[in-house]
Amino acid sequence: MLPIMSRTASHRPVGKNPFFLSLAFKLSLSIFLIASVLLSSLGTYYIHTFAAEIDKQLYLQAEIPARLIGSGVLPCSRVRDREMLSQLVGEEVLFAAMIQSNGMVIYSTDTAKEGLPLDEFKYYEEPSDATLSGEDSSVMHHRKNGSGFLHISTSLHSADGCIGSLYMKVSAVNAAQQKTRMATGFIGGFLLCIWLITMAGALLLHGMTAKRLRNTVACLEAVEQGDLEVRIGRAKSLDELGVLARGVNHMVGELARQHADQKRLELELNRAKESAEKSSRSKSEFLANMSHEIRTPMNGVLGMAQLMRDTELSPEQTEYIKTISASADNLLKIINNILDLSRIELGKFHLKSDTVDFCAMIREIQTSFIPSVKEKGLELRLGCPAALPLVRTDGGSLRQVLINLIANAVKFTQQGHISVDIEFLGKNGNECTLGFRVRDTGIGISKEAQETIFQEFSQVDGSHTREHGGSGLGLAISRKIVEQFGGQLTVSSELGQGSEFSFRITVDVEEEAQADEHGSAKGERAEFDLAVLLVEDNKLNQRVITRMLEKMGCHVDLAENGMEALNRLKQPECPRYNIIFMDIQMPVLDGLKATAMIRAEEPEGQRIPIVAVTA
Ligand code: ADP
Repeated sequence: MLPIMSRTASHRPVGKNPFFLSLAFKLSLSIFLIASVLLSSLGTYYIHTFAAEIDKQLYLQAEIPARLIGSGVLPCSRVRDREMLSQLVGEEVLFAAMIQSNGMVIYSTDTAKEGLPLDEFKYYEEPSDATLSGEDSSVMHHRKNGSGFLHISTSLHSADGCIGSLYMKVSAVNAAQQKTRMATGFIGGFLLCIWLITMAGALLLHGMTAKRLRNTVACLEAVEQGDLEVRIGRAKSLDELGVLARGVNHMVGELARQHADQKRLELELNRAKESAEKSSRSKSEFLANMSHEIRTPMNGVLGMAQLMRDTELSPEQTEYIKTISASADNLLKIINNILDLSRIELGKFHLKSDTVDFCAMIREIQTSFIPSVKEKGLELRLGCPAALPLVRTDGGSLRQVLINLIANAVKFTQQGHISVDIEFLGKNGNECTLGFRVRDTGIGISKEAQETIFQEFSQVDGSHTREHGGSGLGLAISRKIVEQFGGQLTVSSELGQGSEFSFRITVDVEEEAQADEHGSAKGERAEFDLAVLLVEDNKLNQRVITRMLEKMGCHVDLAENGMEALNRLKQPECPRYNIIFMDIQMPVLDGLKATAMIRAEEPEGQRIPIVAVTA
């Protein structure tokens, strides 16, 4: 279990994202936009209200005297009204006049204009700018902006109706300046407020969310990079971020636990795999050693039986010897199969490279099957194109596969024929592809059995199998051998109709064909008059090989092991041997070392051929 809270993510650097993509920036921007919209709406409203207030102050200056005059004072003392008008004139009101409804000036602050129509009064005629002020309709303001002046005319009403108006020419400069000052003040204040709100909001958000979220992000980034010991600090708070942090910490803890479990499991699996491989290797090695050890005495049995056949025997003894030979032969086949399988499993199966004439090979194989085929009344047909080139490949292994397939075909066919075909499928540069097919008209194999027959020790359960015996290794070995050539052995079969086993391989074409080389295997027994040194520790093999060689006309000397052979060769009276047969595994000094020492000591140009001998 990993230590909890061993390290927190709070001091880790945040990811490489630019600031404008961060949550803090986005939240601050949101606050800024909301504050801007709210404050600018509020500001616009206040600016309008204050501007209206300034205008209202101006109207009041005209309205108050107009109300006084309108309350029935007119016509009245011209002197008193003129004084009132003079009092209106000041810094802002530049000119004031009482005007009759026909537009004539009754009296004004400029006496020169009295009794005359007033030019400026035209503004009175433009009702579009009319502004109704106050609760009653007796006072109507008309205003017109232009040329830096404000023209205000306020209608005077009596009980009889409109009796005229009070006209004022007001300088708009002061009001405009006042409005500008006010608007500037407002805008400055609002901007300050927006800035303060944004900053306060950003700081608050940063502390409350952004910083904690950054810790969470940093923690997740560390986890992504494989650090499962990191945890988010300050995960105790009860808000959503606290819950999130606790959740992440829990999840990372679980991950760490599962990771540790997985590691342990992997380790155990690896150990189990190694142990299984070791056992399998030991099994294969044991099988290989055992097969080898059994093969040596079996060879003795077979050799002796063969030698015995050539002696004077009664018919009964000949029958016994035949049975011994056949049983020993079968046993040897099984042992050879086991040895082959062990060699393939141990990776000790290496393809050789010989010149091979496949047509000659299958003719040779056919010869060896003549007795069994004849015995069952079958026919063995061969198909090999005349122009099949000589190739370089491991002929021995392919021969073994073909013999396996043909032997099965003969074994499981009661009537009809067996055909063996080799096809030339094409040439590419120095390589050619060959197809091999073995067909029979035998009992066939069911679809289910076809799935398993290539497995080791697998046989189709049936009377035929029991009748014919077999180890169930032949097809497994054959498939593995074909795989070594880069091909695949396949079967197609119908129950009761027969079977077809086929594979194809690509091999090198032999450029310089030497017809003699492969045409020499005639199996004829030659007579030799040779001096042979046999180096072999096994007594039975010594006797079998010595007898066989002597029957061929050779003179045989014996050495029990490599050291004895070396000593013998050093003696002055030692004959000049034509050939040495050398066993490989021997006590004191084995065949390989002995051969190397003989080669090192023999004079230049006088090499004795040394042939390895094994059971
Ligand atoms: P073995 O022949 O020694 O039993 P093999 O591995 O060569 O082992 O064959 C496995 C099984 O496949 C055989 O026992 C037999 O049941 C089946 N089989 C192989 N070849 C044929 C064939 N030509 N026709 C029918 N059955 C076959």
